[in-house]
Amino acid sequence: MPELPEVEVTRRGVAPHLDGRVVTAVTFRHRGLRWPFPLDLPALLVGRKVRGTGRRGKYLLLRFDHGTVIIHLGMSGHLRILELGVEPQKHDHFDLVVGRQLLRLTDPRRFGAVLWHADADGPVEQHVLLAGLGLEPLEDVFSAQILFQKTRNRSAPIKQVLLAGDIVVGVGNIYASESLFRAGINPKTQAHRISLARYERLVDAIRIILAAAIDKGGSTLRDFIGADGQSGYFQQSYFVYDRAGLPCRNCGTLITQIKQGQRSTFYCKKCQK
Ligand SMILES: [Zn+2]
Repeated sequence: MPELPEVEVTRRGVAPHLDGRVVTAVTFRHRGLRWPFPLDLPALLVGRKVRGTGRRGKYLLLRFDHGTVIIHLGMSGHLRILELGVEPQKHDHFDLVVGRQLLRLTDPRRFGAVLWHADADGPVEQHVLLAGLGLEPLEDVFSAQILFQKTRNRSAPIKQVLLAGDIVVGVGNIYASESLFRAGINPKTQAHRISLARYERLVDAIRIILAAAIDKGGSTLRDFIGADGQSGYFQQSYFVYDRAGLPCRNCGTLITQIKQGQRSTFYCKKCQK
């Protein structure tokens, strides 16, 4: 499933091909994905210039003078820039054509989304899908202080508090396990028992790990351009994630796997207290 780093890498990959370009056509080849497509999108966008791209959590934003296209990749979606005339395949559901190139959304499982938010309805950040999202982990608004404050009444394990997404977005299952390892925090620790000093280590770890994932994806940016191949989803070498029974890269203790809220958690019993 595309996580925050993949969405950010996607944004960086497609942005240079969209910024400042005029939309010449919009094509839907299905009635919708997770929700029905906004069928008035061609009328709203053709002849209009893309003013920029953005991202909020795992939502990609294409900004126009009068509103914003919100795209979500769902479970299996990806976006590519293609030359005009490349024949659509079975799961290619949406094209945004900008002259001689187009942005194409491929989504075999159809859990993704393409939505329109008009500026007349207020800032896009207040859209019903975006308003409840937690802080952006790579922005300054996310800090140890705020994580500490917002967890004083949370007795759930820290791993599940991170995954809940209401305090901070983008720390999915892989990144939560890896960040807690790097910070030396046992994933079962109740969030309200963690000190400010330990949250400082955790916030640093989250930032370093997400930034590294984005950098790693950056090296696959060329894959966004071209008629074949998956766009930039990338394998990383993990310290604990998916390493049950293998020796900890730090101390050699065998990595433990547990279930927390239906999700697998991986950690080192010796390095994480
Ligand atoms: Zn260890």
